[in-house]
Amino acid sequence: MICTTSPSILEINLDAVAENYRFIKEKLKKDTLCAAVVKANAYGLGAVEVSRALYAQDCHHFFVATFEEGLEAREALSFSLPPSSRPSPAHAQERAGGEGEEGRAAIYVLHGANGASLEDFLQHNLIPVLNTRDDIQIWADFAKRTEQKQPAILHIDTGMNRLGLSAQDLSLLNTDILRPLDIRYVMSHLACSDDPDHPKNSEQLDLFKILSAKTGLSSRLSLANSGGIFLGEEYHFDLVRPGCALYGLNPQSNAPNPMQNVITLKARILQVRRVDRAGSVGYGASCAVSSGTLCAVIAAGYADGLFRSLGGRGRVVINGEKCPILGRVSMDSIVVDVTGLKIEPQVGDWAEILGSHQTADDVAAQAGTIGYEILTALGKRYKRIYR
Ligand SMILES: *Cc1c(COP(=O)(O)O)cnc(C)c1O
Repeated sequence: MICTTSPSILEINLDAVAENYRFIKEKLKKDTLCAAVVKANAYGLGAVEVSRALYAQDCHHFFVATFEEGLEAREALSFSLPPSSRPSPAHAQERAGGEGEEGRAAIYVLHGANGASLEDFLQHNLIPVLNTRDDIQIWADFAKRTEQKQPAILHIDTGMNRLGLSAQDLSLLNTDILRPLDIRYVMSHLACSDDPDHPKNSEQLDLFKILSAKTGLSSRLSLANSGGIFLGEEYHFDLVRPGCALYGLNPQSNAPNPMQNVITLKARILQVRRVDRAGSVGYGASCAVSSGTLCAVIAAGYADGLFRSLGGRGRVVINGEKCPILGRVSMDSIVVDVTGLKIEPQVGDWAEILGSHQTADDVAAQAGTIGYEILTALGKRYKRIYR
């Protein structure tokens, strides 16, 4: 262990992120490019570090949700490559799917050209995903004003009823409006890709083919998130957009997780106490304990992303053994049962909250949520160590 006196440590294994990226790339149809979704601070793991690590793996396409996130990613990737590792311009063009600037990553903003002026998007080379006919009109007008073809992704909805143009929007769209734009990709998003048996997957696939053809564009296509990649090559098209799988979550709910674990979260034991008289543990006195129970108090609570719903249901791992959480989760601490462990834990020992013994998906199941929420809820208090 590198450190020291920190009460809690979040270790993020960037090699594992890189390995997950390579693993996904190997699954892809020939000529399909692999982007990375780094929205929400790379699902809580750190957009700057993750984006740089993936860029080093030749990832040249990044998706964020907002302008601010795009700016952060652009700054993270603004370093220039050493001359020896620079791709040739032709190569860069191909790699970046027409991005065209030597070694520069394409950064796409899923929420469109909002949250900043259009000039800001242009200045920082952030490419909006156009979700509505108004979005298209505004970006096309801007392109005319700048007398320059502006890049964009066109998002069509194929059944999720979230963002993107509906079939009706598309039929009302006069495609001449797209002329001042350089539509890099036509994309859609799958609603049920984590469940390979869900009939909605193939319905969306079929509709995507039909609707993308209706645009009359010869743009490249993008449909698959992490789960979609594992549905098979027909879902890959020209660009895939994995997020969760890069960060070690299981992209498919009914199969063993093929991805490498990326994070280890551990917190120190602040106190070890033997219950001297039958009573209860924690707020609400909701958990009865008998005399003789050995309790360890751990330095992490709901302010650190330990869901309160883990009270009485979750566990931590101390010296390789699982220890159930007793009573409610407090803001800054939990109490766990360490009675009868092979090695009696000491103050200052580590309790693993997330890691190889129990993944974010496991803890999500205990907390009644999904791994995505566990990752994005990780607090700011941890000392972060990037490997
Ligand atoms: C978040 C998101 C993704 C990534 O999804 P994962 O399930 O994490 O792989 C891809 N595409 C869009 C449009 C998204 O919003």
